[in-house]
Amino acid sequence: MQAQTPWFTVDQVDPDTYIISEYRHWEETHCYLLNGKDRTLLIDTGLGICDISRVVEPLARGPVTAVATHIHWDHIGGHRHYPDFYAHEAELDWLQGGFPQPIQLIRGYVVDRCQLPQGYDVSNYEFFQGTPTRVLQGGETIHLGGRDIQVLHTPGHAPGHMCFWEEGRGYLFTGDLIYRGLLTAWFPSTDPQAYLNSLEQVAALPAQRLFPGHHDLDLPPELRLQMRDRLRELNQAGKLHHGSGTYQYGDWAIQL
Ligand SMILES: [Zn+2]
Ligand SMILES: [Zn+2]
Repeated sequence: MQAQTPWFTVDQVDPDTYIISEYRHWEETHCYLLNGKDRTLLIDTGLGICDISRVVEPLARGPVTAVATHIHWDHIGGHRHYPDFYAHEAELDWLQGGFPQPIQLIRGYVVDRCQLPQGYDVSNYEFFQGTPTRVLQGGETIHLGGRDIQVLHTPGHAPGHMCFWEEGRGYLFTGDLIYRGLLTAWFPSTDPQAYLNSLEQVAALPAQRLFPGHHDLDLPPELRLQMRDRLRELNQAGKLHHGSGTYQYGDWAIQL
């Protein structure tokens, strides 16, 4: 019998930083655990199919605050374990019944191309709802004790999308703004022009490492510049708008 991949895969980046990945779902979602001297930040909480807190607990050196790069199901699945969570003001209504997709559709995403745990019943899956302990706008710094994480408002994929920038280590956590695969800025709550502005914002940072929300973890920091340049070209050609199509660039693409 073939041994199954464990639900969560943990990779260590440095003595204080871990990647928690879910490779049994095609989206290959990554969450990031950042230990400071005083507390721990969990950037994204994953799919919510299995209990991420069991993996987080032995790694976290302090009380855990969760923050999602944006309020999509695959980034907030474990939020129910973290009553201390932050969210961007532009997506608060998505945490209070205002998310535009019905739960049946989201449950379809959950089981799509997924090696589900045995006996898993998707009809119990819920889209997380709650009230954050802190509302973010972008421009804040989250202090973890010896580690400062800057909040960047980077809309485009979602109106309250955030990247997190740790200048001290040159780490940029990019969520769904940057990853290798199909980037999406075609549905109504996306904004292709804002997407380009957000890429301009992160391209200006001296990032040493990019940590994406999905797929390949081995991204060259220059990828953020290449994506910015391609979107600049689309903009100059008058193609950076909804309904314009899908543009393929080697191993990544953007659907507008
Ligand atoms: Zn998303
Ligand atoms: Zn995502």
